[in-house]
Amino acid sequence: MNKYLELVGYARPVYRKCELCKRVKDVNYRLDVKNAESSVMLVGSLDLCKHCAANMGEIIQKED
Ligand SMILES: [Zn+2]
Repeated sequence: MNKYLELVGYARPVYRKCELCKRVKDVNYRLDVKNAESSVMLVGSLDLCKHCAANMGEIIQKED
């Protein structure tokens, strides 16, 4: 997995706004965005619903 973009699953879903599709629903994942120069530092994170997390997961794993 990409070390600059990391999908982290929540232990239990949180009902809030998905920051990708902007819909308020069960949010199951968080996408941590790391600093491009040092993957140890966290720039911020986005809450994602299951659908968006699945899409982001596929994007992260694409190599081209
Ligand atoms: Zn979403």
